[in-house]
Formats: sequence, structure tokens, C-alpha cells
Amino acid sequence: MLDFNRPPYVGKELDYIKEAVDLHKICGDGKFTQLCSEWMKKRFEINNVLLTTSCTHALEMAAILCDIQKGDEVIMPSYTFVSTADAFVLRGAKIVFVDIRPDTMNIDETKIEAAITDKTKVIVPVHYAGVSCEMDTIMAIAKKHHLLVVEDAAQGVTAYYKGKALGTIGDFGCYSFHETKNYSMGEGGAILFHDDQYKEKAEISREKGTNRSKFFRGQVDKYTWVDYGSSYLPSDLNAAYLWAQLEAADMINNHRLSTWHKYYDGLSKLAEAGYIELPYVPSECTHNAHMFYIKTKDLTDRSALIQHLKKKGIQAVFHYVPLHSSPAGQKFGYFHGVDEYTTKESERLLRLPLFYNITDDEISSVIEAIKEYYR
Ligand SMILES: *Cc1c(COP(=O)(O)O)cnc(C)c1O
Repeated sequence: MLDFNRPPYVGKELDYIKEAVDLHKICGDGKFTQLCSEWMKKRFEINNVLLTTSCTHALEMAAILCDIQKGDEVIMPSYTFVSTADAFVLRGAKIVFVDIRPDTMNIDETKIEAAITDKTKVIVPVHYAGVSCEMDTIMAIAKKHHLLVVEDAAQGVTAYYKGKALGTIGDFGCYSFHETKNYSMGEGGAILFHDDQYKEKAEISREKGTNRSKFFRGQVDKYTWVDYGSSYLPSDLNAAYLWAQLEAADMINNHRLSTWHKYYDGLSKLAEAGYIELPYVPSECTHNAHMFYIKTKDLTDRSALIQHLKKKGIQAVFHYVPLHSSPAGQKFGYFHGVDEYTTKESERLLRLPLFYNITDDEISSVIEAIKEYYR
């Protein structure tokens, strides 16, 4: 059976976890948390990186830092993971869904401005498959209307837009290190931001509403409950796993990109013949091969192909059912404008197995099985 995903493992993870145990520091903000966040600060050229327990929690922190109040509106695509919306709903926001572009599956930047009202506070671009949204346009709209931008860059670690790391372009960026993502710590994530004015509030909300971070730095002589917050800091055991992955980030990224190109080349004839569509990457985007997807003719075609691949022992999966058609999406949000592409394109998209260390034979078997289906 060829799984859709296998969690990345490069070899040093268990040594580092043992080191954390030997150091008698397995709670949050130990040696490995420090190593990971300093590495990201340098590599992605950003002042503040805080490791979190998930990208969902990084988004929740972003919603707190944006000071979302009941009734505030937040604009995002409907074609995304539930956490993008749920993190803001928890703070009382109303979600305004906007259509996507069919070429990248990202929010259609030309449809954002019409969805803005005097209640709008935040725009949340989601960089689908590690391919950036049209950030210059989105940042210009945000500036003009005095809105904040929170990038859901869960899939965008080590991907770039015009040379800038995804997650470092908006006011806040959120990463995921879940086992299905490019670099993993089992469950985990990070929040990134340039502006130091958010630093103290970020530390407080991550540490149960206390000023414990200041206390550990010796800036206050006792720590106390100062604001609302939660427990968003991950164990150093998880950070130790991530550190092994970040040290090997280039190797992981190159392997994923090479897999992506093997799929692209291997399937290009089928695309030229009009059976399927292949992913599109705008020239200003450097992607990270988070995902390889194809688009079939329609839902029926996709279901039949999934069945065919399953019979061949290959697990291929579809992705998000648009949030605006889910029970919670209807309760907490609405779709602004016409759903021209969100539903239609989401029903055609099929993700192929792609993970660090997938073998050439495995990749070829997937390509062959797809070719056989269309013969
Ligand atoms: C994976 C993912 C998340 C959630 O990440 P977790 O770390 O599992 O909380 C959020 N948004 C997008 C777009 C994702 O792909």
C-alpha cells in the first residue's frame, strides 16, 4: 500500500529527543525550542518567531493579537482548512468567504475589496500548496482600508513570494509542523511577526495569560496573571524532533521538489491531451512542493480515478469541502459574491502521494496507474 503521507524522519530526531531528556528540560521553551525559533528568525528574516502547539493555535494567537472583537469581519477563502476560520470564530468574528482563483486555488485578490465593510478587520490569505497568494495586491488593499493581514502559511514553510518568505509578508504569519506538512514535530506550529509591539502580548497569550517569559528573563521578580491567554507552547521533546528536520531543511525541500517535478513531467502528456490539468505556479512564486495535485474533468471522473488508484494500492485523496457549505461555515459566515470556482474546482482536485523519501519506483507506479486509467 502506498500511503498518501508518511511523516518525515531524517535520522537525528531520537538523539535530540534523548538530549532534551538528559537536560531535564522537556516542557516548553527549552534548548530545542530556542534553536528552532532562532533558525527561523535568521532564515526567514523576521524579528519574532514563537513556536506553538499547532498552526491552529498560532492562528488563535494571531486572532488575539489582532484584538478581534465580537462582530468583527474576517475575509478569507472558503477553500481552506477549518482552523483558518475557527481561530477567528472563537473570538467572535464573522467570517466572510471570497471566491478562489482556479489557477492557484488561492483567494482571488480581485474579489477582496468588494467584500470589505466598516466591520472588516483582517484579511487571511491562505497559501495553498505552498504557492503564494498575490501578496502585493493584498497588502495594498489592506493598507488602503487599514486592515491587518494574517497569512495562513501552514503549507508555505520555505516557500517565497518575490524573494520574501511566506509568513513574513503580512502582519502575522502562521506555520504548521503537523506530520502531514513539509517539516514536522508531530503536532506543532509557529507564529511569526516583524513588529516588536506585539512581542509582550504574544508571550503572555502563549503562557496562559501570565508574564512568565519576562520572569524567566529576569525582567520582573515574580510572575502573575496579567491578561487572557492559553497554553500554546509546545514541549521541547517535539521541538527536538523539529530541530533535526530544520537542520536538514534543504535536503527535505530538494527531495520534495524533485518528486514534484517527476510527477509534473510524467503526467504532462496526459495534460497536453486534455485529460487532466496540472498545477500552475506564477513566476513570482517559489514553491516548496508541499503538494502535488491534478485536476480531473469533474467529480465523477475524480471518484472513479480514486477507486482505480485504490485498487492499485495507491492512496490519493481530495481536499477541502468548501467551508461555506459546512454547518459551522453557514452558522459563522457567509459567501460574498458568486461561488464561481470554489465548489467546482474543489470537486476536481486530487492530491497524489508526496512525502520526504518517497521512492522513484513509488512515483512511477502512481504515474503509470493514472496513465492506465485514461487509456
Ligand atoms: C494543516 C493546516 C492548518 C492546521 O495546522 P495544524 O498545525 O494541524 O493546526 C491550517 N491551515 C492550513 C491551510 C493547513 O494546511
